[in-house]
Amino acid sequence: MDFVNFDPAELAKFQALADRWWDPRSEFRPLHEINPLRLAWIDGLSPLVERKVLDVGCGGGILAESMARKGADVLGIDLADKPLKVAALHAQASGATVAYREISAEALADGCEASFDVVTCMEMLEHVPSPDAVIKACARMAKPGGWVFFSTINRTPWAWLIAIFGAEQVLRILPRGTHDYRKLIRPDELKQAASRAGLELRDQRGLGYNPLTRNFRLHRSLRVGYLLAMQKNRRQPAMKKASSSNQPRMNETDKAPPA
Ligand code: SAH
Repeated sequence: MDFVNFDPAELAKFQALADRWWDPRSEFRPLHEINPLRLAWIDGLSPLVERKVLDVGCGGGILAESMARKGADVLGIDLADKPLKVAALHAQASGATVAYREISAEALADGCEASFDVVTCMEMLEHVPSPDAVIKACARMAKPGGWVFFSTINRTPWAWLIAIFGAEQVLRILPRGTHDYRKLIRPDELKQAASRAGLELRDQRGLGYNPLTRNFRLHRSLRVGYLLAMQKNRRQPAMKKASSSNQPRMNETDKAPPA
């Protein structure tokens, strides 16, 4: 049987919480709070109006819908059906025009080579068995010169202290077990995987949280959460289809030092 690049236990976490996705005081509060920051950053680098945009691992559609409101033509994809249903209902109620599909990035890439001006894949790679395969699929689906945005969490003891112990056990802004330290991804690992897929780094930002003011902000340090903006090489040789079946996790193969 073909290797399918998802972890049922990871999807189950998001299925179980789906009905609370749009409650800004719920487990998804961090996503609601970081959304204006990441949206402005993306739109500043690559204006979204009238662009064709793919949001990979869109969940309940917080980012996808906000990009549609900026005038983009957005398709959101995810493998968890409940968040997708919530996303579709919310878009209907709010009048946003977004399309949603239950499909993996790798499967969509087979029919959507070089199809999108912008591909976003936020807070998702750390929940996937082979992030490398998702990165390749995102790169394949971007048009030459198109933009690909990733965000995830660094894998360092400091990131564990802040993003797992602090966020899940002390501040309790995320449910326990949201993140597994071993699946976190160092910026250099993500940059190297993206570069192998034909993407060039254009900008990077760290995500900071002030527990006193309870505010998120974008800053320079990539020590905990971070976002990367990449652009697809214009003179790219045709890329081979991602063969994910026997690929080790990239954080087992790349020995990048901590960022
Ligand atoms: N990107 C959204 C949601 C992040 S939550 C945002 O930042 O607002 C992580 C999402 O990734 C969940 O909706 C989960 O269902 C999805 N996900 C996890 N593994 C996946 C996979 N292998 N393929 C597609 N989506 C996946």
